[in-house]
Amino acid sequence: MPANPLPDAALLAGGAAGPRALRPLLDTVLDALAEGAAARCGPLPAGGPDAVTQLLERCGPTLPDHGTGALDALHTLVTALAAGAADPADPHCAAHLHAPPLAVAAAADLAASALNPSMDSWDQAPAASALEERLTRDLAALVHPRGPGPDALVTTGGTEANLLGVLLARERLSPRLALLCGANAHHSVHRAAWLLGLPAPTVLPTPRGILDPAAVHDALTGLDTLNCTAGPPTPVLVVATAGTTDSGAIDPLPALADTVAAHRRGRPSAFHIDAAYGGALLFSPAHRAKLAGLDRADTVTLDLHKLGWQPVAAGLLTVPDGRALAPLGHRADYLNAEDDTDAGLPDLLGRSLRTTRRPDILKIAVTIRALGTAGLAALVERTCDAARDLADRVAAEPRLTLHARPAISTVLFRPVGAADEQVAAIRRRLLTEGRAVLGRARARDHDGRTVLWLKATLLNPHAQPSDLAALVKLVLDQAPRPRKDSSR
Ligand SMILES: *Cc1c(COP(=O)(O)O)cnc(C)c1O
Repeated sequence: MPANPLPDAALLAGGAAGPRALRPLLDTVLDALAEGAAARCGPLPAGGPDAVTQLLERCGPTLPDHGTGALDALHTLVTALAAGAADPADPHCAAHLHAPPLAVAAAADLAASALNPSMDSWDQAPAASALEERLTRDLAALVHPRGPGPDALVTTGGTEANLLGVLLARERLSPRLALLCGANAHHSVHRAAWLLGLPAPTVLPTPRGILDPAAVHDALTGLDTLNCTAGPPTPVLVVATAGTTDSGAIDPLPALADTVAAHRRGRPSAFHIDAAYGGALLFSPAHRAKLAGLDRADTVTLDLHKLGWQPVAAGLLTVPDGRALAPLGHRADYLNAEDDTDAGLPDLLGRSLRTTRRPDILKIAVTIRALGTAGLAALVERTCDAARDLADRVAAEPRLTLHARPAISTVLFRPVGAADEQVAAIRRRLLTEGRAVLGRARARDHDGRTVLWLKATLLNPHAQPSDLAALVKLVLDQAPRPRKDSSR
């Protein structure tokens, strides 16, 4: 036995004694979260990057020789992180698809951390892998109700899910795979092509924010002339988006599915839909119809750390038939020896590109069990209603221009008569003063010019009309005064 007992900070989270070690630490964490939020008193810290750097410097050295103990360490750093956070639970934190996580999901994630199952082999995650198997199939069946064997892989988010979608298409069709997407596609589609050694995607302009099926048809027809290739037609993956990052727009999925189907006869083709943002509309009977055509994709990206209110990470890639996942099968004798698999131990290695992997399925399962799909639908509907309310307020305000009615929960708007630099400056000033976190997006104005817009991506189902009114006022207070000769 070592002479010195181990410090409390070395106690374990798991086992029968784990909860006893955790309880006082959790009290400390919860107090620190409350203190930090009170100190911040807004959606993000005021003062910009310098103020935050100083806040962290006041916490002391990051690599001390001697520790300060668990309670001090938790209190100091969690308070600082909360005080310096951009907190999506604040209704004025609305720049990105950055969701406020549900308390129930965060609590479940604590259990995931304490138990620490690793999803790369059954002997590290017996129950977690069984839970993942059941829930991924059920979630995939929501997306692909007519699929012969719907299944889904759990990913770190939309980026990894898009990468897997492109990888599966390449493995199924050809290493010569060409990608076709809109200018509205997420940047991760381009990265996936780059990472997988594929040519850069052919990008179709999306002046109205969505892909035009006729343009996709023309591009598919012209693909081989474009590439100057003689011989068999170039295999293609068409990528559509259900909920674009810039405006929340949904590509015309049924018409795009028809277009891909028409070309499948002459050309090996695949259809991927990036529904990282919009996918959760499936839970809502009121909004589900917007996703008509989703079930005609070969692969679909979902992201429950957006609409879904999970702590990061909670992505999924769904397929109508689990056999499509076979190319990801992989052997490592220490994780899925053939004789173990033959003896009936589930082989998990082909369910991810990662090896060690968190049981992200637990928080998702707990959330859906707690709320039911009807409860999730209610959150989706409230969030979309809040966006509609904000759009109404903007439309009613003569000093603001609304870009379009929200398809999901993104509202683009700008002060009338403002130059792009003024729009950018408003966003940065609100950010630096700690008043609001708004995003930015380029899109056409009503005269057809591409201009910069402020972007509110609403994801907080608790946002009240008064919060939205206050957000509009914050922007108006920063907006340039209308000139007398202004024509609008
Ligand atoms: C957020 C988003 C992604 C990327 O997802 P991550 O979870 O950030 O990796 C991809 N596509 C769309 C449309 C998104 O909104």
